[in-house]
Amino acid sequence: MHAATDATARRPIRALPDLLVNQIAAGEVVERPASVVKELVENAIDAGASRVTVELESGGIELIRVSDDGRGIPAAELPLALAPHATSKIERADDLDQIGTLGFRGEALASIASVARVTIRSRTAEQDGAAEVHAEGAEAGPVQPAAGPVGTSVTVRNLFFNTPARRKFLRTPQTEQGRSLDAVRDLAMAHPAVAFTARVDGRVVLDLPPGQSARERALAILGPELGPQLLEASADSFDDARGLALWGLVGLPAIARATNQAQHVFLNGRCIRDKTVQHAIKEAYRGLIEPGRHPTAVLMLEMNPGAVDVNVHPAKVEVRFRDPSLVHSAVLRAVRDALRGADLTPTAGQASRGFEARAILPASASPGGPAGGAGPGEGVTGATASRFGGFVDYFRREVPERAQGDISYEAIRAAASGPAPPAPIEPAMTGPHAAPEEGSSAGGASMPVALPAQRILQVHNSYLVTQDEHGVVIVDQHALHERVMFEQLMARIREAPLESQRLLTPAVVPASERQLEKLAEFAPLLARIGVEAEAIGPRALAVHAFPTFLFSRGVDPVELLTELFERAEADGFAPGSEAALHEVLDMMACKAAVKAGDRLSEGELAELLRLREEVDRSSNCPHGRPTTVRLTIRELEKLFKRT
Ligand code: ADP
Ligand code: MG
Repeated sequence: MHAATDATARRPIRALPDLLVNQIAAGEVVERPASVVKELVENAIDAGASRVTVELESGGIELIRVSDDGRGIPAAELPLALAPHATSKIERADDLDQIGTLGFRGEALASIASVARVTIRSRTAEQDGAAEVHAEGAEAGPVQPAAGPVGTSVTVRNLFFNTPARRKFLRTPQTEQGRSLDAVRDLAMAHPAVAFTARVDGRVVLDLPPGQSARERALAILGPELGPQLLEASADSFDDARGLALWGLVGLPAIARATNQAQHVFLNGRCIRDKTVQHAIKEAYRGLIEPGRHPTAVLMLEMNPGAVDVNVHPAKVEVRFRDPSLVHSAVLRAVRDALRGADLTPTAGQASRGFEARAILPASASPGGPAGGAGPGEGVTGATASRFGGFVDYFRREVPERAQGDISYEAIRAAASGPAPPAPIEPAMTGPHAAPEEGSSAGGASMPVALPAQRILQVHNSYLVTQDEHGVVIVDQHALHERVMFEQLMARIREAPLESQRLLTPAVVPASERQLEKLAEFAPLLARIGVEAEAIGPRALAVHAFPTFLFSRGVDPVELLTELFERAEADGFAPGSEAALHEVLDMMACKAAVKAGDRLSEGELAELLRLREEVDRSSNCPHGRPTTVRLTIRELEKLFKRT
């Protein structure tokens, strides 16, 4: 599925002209057994092999043998194969712009031979028998006849026998073996049509049949049990003018890892490490996994060899895309789409493995706080519409009719910090246009609520418990509502800035000089969220307008802005960036969402669960923590020892 194995007619091995030698990114190729394994397997693939066998002894330190059934090397060319900068893969400088093979520098065998005892036995289809050459510390012996099938077998013994200092840097055979096998697995994943066998001290540790699909191969290597946890991502038609195809498997957020080891990225059959691609993957998971974690992913990119420079890194693992933004957006889109379509709810077991147990509620949301003490039904009747109902719709219908500026800052403050639950300062709830008009939204008992077939239990005023076809579903009410609001805000703000209310008296926010300097930079972002602010004096700024939506949810402008500036300083995000927008919307969503301890009516419970189906990425709150956990029937059976 890539260009590199295309068996173009074999070309003779030739020494490269000096100029071309110098144009090749030089550097150390042989660092450890894994680097030898990688180079030899790449050669086998370049030779059009359909079967590759890798043997290791002592983790590859004592012996590495890679055998293939590829085109072979003519006996007469065997000495050249070992010569530095001799290759059959490129001839001219122009070829460097169109590299369709994994190798091209002609230095791997030479550098390996300079630090180990190397034997190459090879036979082409035209030859009656094989020929063999032995080299030791770069001294090549004569080519001799040998017995063997068509193809090539390269044996590398006693790595670094003549450079003891480097031998000392090797890790234990166990570690070196692990890395060597990783190199084999990576290349095997990138070349699913080729059969791979790996033997360690005579024992078969990897056995992959030929002709697998990319998916079969990836699962065979990652572990078939991971299958249900992986989503397929693909994109091959967009931007085809510039020729980029992409296929991959991306893991559910629950199987994200602490390191990015579980990320395998391939470009034209080459395993690469690339910041652009990594960033795009991470971006696609933003808000679905916690910031320090790394998604599991296998991604295969294919593009015209001319669109990428692979001649930039000694081990060829880093590449330079001619158009990195094309690659970034293609990966981001494909991965995001894959995630969007899926049910990302972790099972109870996954959730407790994948996420450190820790307080997942903001400090302001302590159960038993003022809101927790609300009596039955208090703060609930009619409040539902603004709590959960698409507030976007609410704005469209309600706001233009309302007098702007009829809410004073004091009222907000009192509502936010007073003993009463914060919700009922919503004009729509208290005014004559109260809930009944909010036809689409759920509300108190008098409203047309789509009560779910399933009963919903609110546990400790913090968690919702219900069931679906897989088992018990447990929802963190704050986390889910935060996600819902976040998505709604995001959708809203993409269209136009949020509506705001003018304050009767400006709210004064204490600010540092640095923050005041930043105010100008933040102005466009603030305008988008409906905040109007200006510096007054050296240590304060005044807020003149504030988003209606936050008013209605009793959020304090001082608190919001103070926190925004603090976070901007701590995390260093640029005011105009997507990250800043994400951050500020998240803060708003977090502050406006129902808290743990808020008692919800039946209608509200139902509405919240309905919205869970409706918004994107509802499985996780914007910080990436799960909103929902499922206890599957299987897990229940296990817990009760029924199986
Ligand atoms: P490169 O792969 O960059 O050309 P190498 O030093 O790895 O350089 O190999 C030198 C040459 O030896 C290759 O260009 C190729 O012609 C030949 N060669 C190496 N390994 C094999 C193999 N397994 N089968 C066929 N030819 C090979
Ligand atoms: Mg090579």
